[in-house]
Amino acid sequence: MTLKITILGATGSIGKSTLEIVRQHPDHFKIVGLSTNTNIKLFEKLIKEFRPKKAVIANKSFFKKTLSFSGVKIIAGEEGLLEISGDPDTDVVVAGIVGFAGLSSVMAATRAGKRILLANKEALVCAGNLMVENCFASNAEIIPIDSEHNAIFQCLGVGYRCFYKAKNLSKVILTASGGPFRTWKEKEIENATVEQAIAHPNWTMGKKISVDSATMINKALEIIEAHWLFNLKSSEIEVVIHPESIIHSMIEFSDKAVLAQLGQPDMRVPIASGLAWPNRLDMDLQGLDWRDIKTFNFESPDDKRFPAIPLAREVLNSGGSLGAVMNAANEVAVLSFLNGDIAFGSIIGMVYDSLEKFSQIASQNISSLDELIILDNSVRQFCTKLIKI
Ligand code: MG
Repeated sequence: MTLKITILGATGSIGKSTLEIVRQHPDHFKIVGLSTNTNIKLFEKLIKEFRPKKAVIANKSFFKKTLSFSGVKIIAGEEGLLEISGDPDTDVVVAGIVGFAGLSSVMAATRAGKRILLANKEALVCAGNLMVENCFASNAEIIPIDSEHNAIFQCLGVGYRCFYKAKNLSKVILTASGGPFRTWKEKEIENATVEQAIAHPNWTMGKKISVDSATMINKALEIIEAHWLFNLKSSEIEVVIHPESIIHSMIEFSDKAVLAQLGQPDMRVPIASGLAWPNRLDMDLQGLDWRDIKTFNFESPDDKRFPAIPLAREVLNSGGSLGAVMNAANEVAVLSFLNGDIAFGSIIGMVYDSLEKFSQIASQNISSLDELIILDNSVRQFCTKLIKI
């Protein structure tokens, strides 16, 4: 059977990796929808190569009237993302748009009952309760392709469905590389440059997630992501630093048996697993060479130098929609850091200030996407004012 695939964020890191796998397995997969935000040059090449039925340029200002391919409907704007996410002709939606910008299209796919390969962790962080509701109502299925959550998903085995508490599972252990500043002193971290922050030691990723790894906010968001995906409390989600990034995460059962998923740090592995699940693809990739692996190291995360992890636990324990506040503040802070407007050390400060400011307003669960967009906007305005001070 050929699976019909739509990729949201086809020109980004996740999109490109997905397309590499599709290229290797033309008998298994057919691309029916693609989207980009601004990278038109690459997008044109992808349209010519894969001939989707629909292609979306999410950022309207990058749309050109001259763009035309026979048999391909080109759509400009956010509404196009919603259209291809819920398209009846799509079996699988790969959600590779980074951040809050990807939320509404992921939500559309959950309403339409799709199988969703979820890389967009921010969707769950901001709208976990709405996504769970939608998936239960429409029978949509989430397969996480964030490497840690995909590792846990694989360990839980065929037959496991996300959002349920797995039988006899006592905890999950999320591994973290520790990012580029793992061994740095607090003062050095505060003044790190953009180049230093985006130079991840093991993974090749987009800029936003690379900065998130450097602050370890990425792991903080992943704790919240694991809470929703696997129906776990904060105390059931452990984080351990594993600088080699070979063990992608682990699970522990009530009898204390531990299962782990290992492999090269290469996003094509979790994506291939998700595309074929519960089957397996033949992948032309380098496997682990056990003669090269001398040791596995483990450390506890340092809450003082990397306060994002305890902050995520506070967010989870407080409940409501604080996850959305944390995410919005972080998105503004990371962009401002990348633009040279704030210091690296100010990113986490902006997240703290926003959580404090919005703790009352966000203490309740959000009941609709529209409400969430209003909250997200308010946090962004608050942060933008902080930058101008
Ligand atoms: Mg990850």
